[in-house]
Amino acid sequence: MLDTKVVGLLNQQVNKEFYSAYLYLDFSNYYYDNGLDGFGNWYRVQAQEERDHAMLFIQYLQNNGEKVVLDTVEKPSVALNNAKSILSEGLKHEQYVTSLIHNIYDAAYSVKDFRTMQFLDWFVKEQGEEETNADSLVKKYELFGDDPKSLYMLDSELGGRVYAAPSLVL
Ligand code: MG
Repeated sequence: MLDTKVVGLLNQQVNKEFYSAYLYLDFSNYYYDNGLDGFGNWYRVQAQEERDHAMLFIQYLQNNGEKVVLDTVEKPSVALNNAKSILSEGLKHEQYVTSLIHNIYDAAYSVKDFRTMQFLDWFVKEQGEEETNADSLVKKYELFGDDPKSLYMLDSELGGRVYAAPSLVL
């Protein structure tokens, strides 16, 4: 049995990861609607990864005999102003998700729940990568976004992103 507060936070994270998937699907749709199919692809793959994250939290709860409680997934609440602002919003969102993961880690640490801490280690590392990727997109757009030819090449590069299953297997 896991600590009640930790279980509550893990269940909440299931919802947050599904929300992330929903949010990034919204981003993806915006880019497809606006002719940037590569950015659309990049965020569609990202949405798939977020769904995987949710499934990992579900699996972890189930592996520990805990009940999974699915809650309503909120409507994406980020304004889709333009191709560039969405990338900054993506970075902000990842920073927020990092804070959520750290908060669960903190709760697990305070009750000496080493098993959950070990499970979360993968997510701590993953969040570092997510922030780096999101930050890199912002910087690339700042550098190349205003030049149509460069933007075309950047979009083509992002179109090459292929979905891969998560490296964490429970
Ligand atoms: Mg995630």
